[in-house]
Amino acid sequence: MSMKIVGDPVVVRQMVTEEKRAGKRIGIVPTMGALHEGHLSLVRRSKLEADMTIVTIFVNPTQFGPAEDLDKYPRTLEHDLALLEKLEVDAVFVPTDEMMYPQGFETFVAPGKIADRLEGKMRPTHFRGVATIVLKLFHLTGADVAFFGQKDYQQCCVIKKMIDDFNIPVEMVVCPIVRESDGLAMSSRNRYLSTEERRQAVVLSQGLEAAQKMLDAQVDTDVIPVDRVRNEIHKTISTASLAKIDDISIVDPDTLDEIGEIRRRNDDRRSAVILLAVRFGATRLIDNALVVFKKSEYEV
Ligand code: AMP
Repeated sequence: MSMKIVGDPVVVRQMVTEEKRAGKRIGIVPTMGALHEGHLSLVRRSKLEADMTIVTIFVNPTQFGPAEDLDKYPRTLEHDLALLEKLEVDAVFVPTDEMMYPQGFETFVAPGKIADRLEGKMRPTHFRGVATIVLKLFHLTGADVAFFGQKDYQQCCVIKKMIDDFNIPVEMVVCPIVRESDGLAMSSRNRYLSTEERRQAVVLSQGLEAAQKMLDAQVDTDVIPVDRVRNEIHKTISTASLAKIDDISIVDPDTLDEIGEIRRRNDDRRSAVILLAVRFGATRLIDNALVVFKKSEYEV
């Protein structure tokens, strides 16, 4: 069956209604296009877990602030569609701004405190726009399961909270961060980096690795102050002359609340998540890692 490309929300609705009546489980992968291997990993996962995979491509204006790069955001639709066709995606939903936000549109989702911190501090209306478009896409596509990347860690937390708070019958699957061979997290924004910036950008993932290594080396303590970990990351990132550190946050993995220390755990819950935001010239890169600080198997 060939891939359907649909722009009209009414047509998407009709298409999925038929499929759902036939008992199909619908998987949705929301994207803003400019697709790379990170996006494609979500698509592959959906192909495994759903009967029908719908990829949405929409550069959502309401999640960009007035001073952000909406007009500059890369748009590579032909190339995106060719990649998705190769993966045998069932349908691609590519609406226009007017279709998603017709004249008179005025209702927005208002995420709570999970959206105020970290990225939300820098971009005050960002997650309101994200939550609103994701809710619309859930409804339009009748999604049973939705695939998101850990790359945008706070985004995943905001959406998970919305799903819980609004009792939305969508299962959320968070997929691992896909990286370039040197460790840089793949991102549509990496293309803005100069050759030298690109070379140095590896310090984000190196900083995260250094933090985990530091935890692994602590054999005689169960508690580490986050400042020590932050300093270690700072040291690693500062080796890049072009890097300007915006944020190194070490927080609770569920609530994103600040924590003062990382404690050794003996359950499966991660002790902390480290979130980085680093600028290279005009390009702001983000990366994150859930850190492990476990009781040794040999300890009693
Ligand atoms: P975007 O097009 O940037 O809005 O991203 C669409 C989806 O792809 C989001 O759920 C992202 O978290 C995910 N994504 C972006 N980059 C990566 C990556 N390097 N690895 C895994 N998922 C990613």
